[in-house]
Amino acid sequence: MDARIGKVLLTSDRIAARVRQLGRRLARAYAGREPVLVAVMKGCFLLAADLVRAWPGPLDVEFVSAESYAGTRPGAVRLRVPRGLRSRIAGRPVLVVDDIYDTGATLAKVCRALEALGPAEVRTLVLLRKRRAAAARPDWVGFDIPDRFVVGYGLDYCGRYRNLPYLAVLRQGR
Ligand code: 5GP
Ligand code: MG
Repeated sequence: MDARIGKVLLTSDRIAARVRQLGRRLARAYAGREPVLVAVMKGCFLLAADLVRAWPGPLDVEFVSAESYAGTRPGAVRLRVPRGLRSRIAGRPVLVVDDIYDTGATLAKVCRALEALGPAEVRTLVLLRKRRAAAARPDWVGFDIPDRFVVGYGLDYCGRYRNLPYLAVLRQGR
């Protein structure tokens, strides 16, 4: 085991059970409609893959990418939206899916950019939430977690640990 991996906060079984439950809820919430799931790369690639397989209804999948962290330090959010996304989401219900909600800056920026492309609506889902008091609230939240830097299940530290099947606290220090 890597010495930087600390306490396991969520086992892969617990994550899987919650993602399946969210998939069923989303299918009900979007019954009769065909939403576009917009996954925020790269942190949510495992969540998006598991969520769409737990979602029995019709849907489309698109990707945007947002980067803000240098190591464990947050910075300004840089967002990249693919060419042609407007024609694929205009008039459609959009569900933005992200890995983790901390200050809410990333999700707010993604939502603003997508709103400008003329969707029917924009709703949001995050697997993890560290704070409750931020301005824009996600519509669906997988788990509330303590304010620690976490890795695994898609979340990285300097590009590492995305492949851990569970979610763990990163040990800080030298
Ligand atoms: P926010 O913009 O809400 O403050 O931060 C959200 C983004 O910061 C997430 O999309 C994620 O990329 C990154 N982030 C926030 N907290 C953590 C964390 O504990 N671990 C990792 N790996 N990334 C985080
Ligand atoms: Mg992110």
